[in-house]
Amino acid sequence: MLVEQEKLIEFVIAIFTSAGSSADVAAEVANHLVSANLRGHDSHGVGMIPAYVGNIGNGQLNVTAQAEVVRDNGAVLMIDGNAGFGQVVGRQATDIAIARARETGIVCAGIRNCHHLGRIGSYGEQCGNAGFVSIHFVNVVGHPPQVSPFGGRDRRMSTNPFCCVVPRPNAPPIVLDMATSAVAQGKVRVAYMKGVPVPEGALVDSEGSPTTDPGVMFNEPYGALGPFGKHKGYGLAVMCELLGGALAGEWTAQPENPQGNNIINNMLLFVLDPTAFGDTATFHSEVEAMTRYLHTTSPAKGVDKVRIPGEPELESLAERSVQGIPIDDNSWAGILRAAASAGLTEEAIAGYAG
Ligand code: NAD
Repeated sequence: MLVEQEKLIEFVIAIFTSAGSSADVAAEVANHLVSANLRGHDSHGVGMIPAYVGNIGNGQLNVTAQAEVVRDNGAVLMIDGNAGFGQVVGRQATDIAIARARETGIVCAGIRNCHHLGRIGSYGEQCGNAGFVSIHFVNVVGHPPQVSPFGGRDRRMSTNPFCCVVPRPNAPPIVLDMATSAVAQGKVRVAYMKGVPVPEGALVDSEGSPTTDPGVMFNEPYGALGPFGKHKGYGLAVMCELLGGALAGEWTAQPENPQGNNIINNMLLFVLDPTAFGDTATFHSEVEAMTRYLHTTSPAKGVDKVRIPGEPELESLAERSVQGIPIDDNSWAGILRAAASAGLTEEAIAGYAG
């Protein structure tokens, strides 16, 4: 089915206010989730609602939490998300880091204990739209690991996203935003919900044999997601675990830490002010010249054109803003069940979802 964005946002706001959020918090979370769907990342959109409602119910997601600066060393900040909605405390923590970077030129912020931050690129865009470069190393904990190290078959980490953003004065920022697993876990969930295979090379079964069956991530005996880019993607995932997890979060995926049914993100965020480096005009003109150079590459056979990072999301945004957001039947059924468990009446649900 295709759902119109405004209607979906209203429904999501109703679900989270019914689950105990203030209207402002519910609106921020709803806008973030729907914006992920609009940008083509259904893995980090409204399909996360059942997990969020579940974690509100079991006390693992604090709907009133605010980001809190717990250590201030000037250009180095430690900020605790207090297990609040990542979409809220992540945005607040990024605002704090940007404000400090205006004074110090560079900030490194450890942002810890956030309930699922969702699409990390949204915090990168926050920095890029304010004229700053940003670099994000993120780990994911609170549940059993899902991703095997290069050369292994046991799960040792999660999908540890990495993001890097470069601002452009008269255009949207350049946004590299990716899971370090071969595909994001949420994309395996979407494939499972739709009953379709995942791309080859992304998963191994419990015996360590390659498979395209997303069910190996949801049914015993479990398989594992592999890293993207062989040993190189694995290496980047390790750095996300050690910088986002050990340094910023003080919480890695090693088994002495809790591994229940929670989703906690820890992020090491660097915010850089290009004006602190010198000739900003040259920086911007080099970015534009290089972008043009990349865009004018002759496409390989079967490819329509060469893109820069972040462009597929903008293309999806343009298309889905007009055509609506596709949601598969199983994901939609899960959202309706979550709405009921959040306390919305059948009539109210029918009013939003009818
Ligand atoms: P992806 O593979 O769709 O895209 C990765 C990057 O490649 C993006 O920057 C995209 O713009 C770029 N890209 C894609 N196709 C391109 C092309 N043809 N030319 C140039 N650039 C191109 O993304 P993903 O790895 O599936 O990640 C999806 C989302 O999942 C991200 O937003 C990420 O932050 C999020 N995520 C979040 C968590 C979490 O715990 N919060 C964990 C993992 C992933």
